[in-house]
Amino acid sequence: MTYLARFIPVLVLCLCGSATVQSSAAGTEEFNLTEIAAGIYVHNGKHVGFDSPGHDDIANIGFIVGEKCVAVIDTGGSVKTGQALLAAIQKTTSLPICFVINTHIHFDHLLGNIVFRNDQVKFVGHRNLADEVISSRGFFLEQFRDDLGENPTEDSIIAPNLLVDATLQLDLGKRLLTLKAWKTAHSHTDLSVYDSKTNTLWLSDLLFMQRIPALDGSLKNWLKITDELQKTTAECIVPGHGPVCAKAPMAFSDQNRYLDILLTQTRRKIAEGLFMEDIVDTVGSKEKLKWLLYEQHHKRNVTRAFSELEWE
Ligand SMILES: [Zn+2]
Repeated sequence: MTYLARFIPVLVLCLCGSATVQSSAAGTEEFNLTEIAAGIYVHNGKHVGFDSPGHDDIANIGFIVGEKCVAVIDTGGSVKTGQALLAAIQKTTSLPICFVINTHIHFDHLLGNIVFRNDQVKFVGHRNLADEVISSRGFFLEQFRDDLGENPTEDSIIAPNLLVDATLQLDLGKRLLTLKAWKTAHSHTDLSVYDSKTNTLWLSDLLFMQRIPALDGSLKNWLKITDELQKTTAECIVPGHGPVCAKAPMAFSDQNRYLDILLTQTRRKIAEGLFMEDIVDTVGSKEKLKWLLYEQHHKRNVTRAFSELEWE
């Protein structure tokens, strides 16, 4: 079973941007889109659970427009969401898409990839992402068949063909994006995107706001990386879930507190000789009213923390 397979079962708004536009695509629902900085557009995902209608549209996804071409950042959790994003791009610019950047492995960020497949588009991801996508294809197909369009096959789930080892710069035409591959934190495949033109830092799921963080990598590393990230002077940070634009250090305060509680309380209870089943209902229980979707994800986070910390 892949780590994703284990992830799933247990598994408002500060609009800092200059303009919000609506476009209707992929059915009758409106597809919200905010220009958070010049040429950077973010679609705000909904806060719903994995088993609810709309689960394929829960992540903040979007695109950045250069003078030559467009980079898409994440494609949503279904072909339908990918199509809505593509329609929104085509309404905004006639420039071609040259890159599709996937910020990590989770379904809500990459199952729309196939909509963007053509010979001109490079799919970009963390050095671990291609292997993770390939090994997760069967799982995605089984769990998300209805979100993958008509007659999906394993080939419907597109893996990156340009990998980021440490950092990589992409040129969109007078617009350089700097991609950074992080060590295991939220997941094993976290990638951030920095746009120097507008001082915007797209962190995706390295930062959760409002919706409870989902730990699928390393708690200790995620806390360390958060320490580093919250010193950023970026004008606008794009979290994977929550508002489309936020500022450090405030943007990190809830996530920092939550991850720190998870670490210190789990560590203490392990030292007291308690087992995983003894602690899932007590560790972090005071966080319950502070997060959306706490019930869906919190216990899983505690079990991940326990597994990471029990042998340290
Ligand atoms: Zn994620």
